[in-house]
Amino acid sequence: MDRGGLEKRNVGENLDALMNLDPRGYGVCRILYAGSREQMGEPLTMRAAEKLCETVKENDLVYILTGFVLLPHKKPEMDGMVSSLLLARALVMAFGAKPVIICPEDCVKSVKKCAGVVGLHVYQDIEDVKKLPLSMGVTAFTKNPARAEIEAKWLIKEALPGAVISVEAPGSNEMGVYHNATGNDVTELEAKTDVLWEMLREKGILNIAIGDLGNEIGMGTIADHIKKYIPFAGSGECVCGCGGGILAASRADHVITATCSDWGCYGLIAALAYLKRDMEILHREEMEAELMRVASRTGLIDMTGSLIPGIDGFNTRLNTGIVSLMRQCTAYAVRYSHNSDHWFGSVLEKGFFEEGDRPWFK
Ligand SMILES: [Zn+2]
Repeated sequence: MDRGGLEKRNVGENLDALMNLDPRGYGVCRILYAGSREQMGEPLTMRAAEKLCETVKENDLVYILTGFVLLPHKKPEMDGMVSSLLLARALVMAFGAKPVIICPEDCVKSVKKCAGVVGLHVYQDIEDVKKLPLSMGVTAFTKNPARAEIEAKWLIKEALPGAVISVEAPGSNEMGVYHNATGNDVTELEAKTDVLWEMLREKGILNIAIGDLGNEIGMGTIADHIKKYIPFAGSGECVCGCGGGILAASRADHVITATCSDWGCYGLIAALAYLKRDMEILHREEMEAELMRVASRTGLIDMTGSLIPGIDGFNTRLNTGIVSLMRQCTAYAVRYSHNSDHWFGSVLEKGFFEEGDRPWFK
């Protein structure tokens, strides 16, 4: 490990820690992190961001799967949607990529109205996205399981993306049943994007899954850990009677788990800003608050069902606070760039960080 490696490692720890702050206090994020960190073997945000930097080239399509529809109002939630828009912006700024949000029909109107808040034009025709600068796409994906394979094949035939990232995207369990957080069957409400996910994974496309409980695409990567410790996830623990649990069956090459999926995605964006040495890639606090307000006005709901702007019960002030801390913890390292002769060399000499993976909480 050299100075740059030491700094990168610890900026990654900062971002992983910030996305896993636990204002609720019931510890689910820390349970998930213990499992995902052990599986990935290094800070989750930095690992995924490095893979994006190695893989995504200018004009590459990047598919972002998101959009969870909630009971009892049958309206899509804020979590996942807000950060997917900000991730689209970051991918354009960092790589000149062509992001496309793939979501249930319920979310299309919101994406169209929110794209301008993050400074992007939005098109439903992927050809327009490819052709025009500062643009992103939005595509509705079917809720009909019988159509999912046809739609996924059609999308892949049109264009293969450089990467696929899921953010709070509903994932079905081993029996094909989609569950909400408390174990109810929400299969009819959700887009079947995990069919597309599996196809892209089979083709070897870089895949990053972001989740905050276990019922999201890709969380099957840490199946044993989630079944053991997360409520309603073990076999027969859901309340819908399918005989399974809420755990999504799909797996991912890279997972990020956090207190809410949006915070995990902000961590990923901040790590990208760090690696590219460009803090503009991570949005500012004002954009966070404005996007939450506009998203809420388009009908996206908080986890609680409220139409007051909120992400998994966290208001604009808490969300801007997380973004602000991520900005400052990353910008410091970008600004001073491991140039302290006094500290970096002498810390490395003592070898603490060479002795295997040492997560910040151990
Ligand atoms: Zn069930």
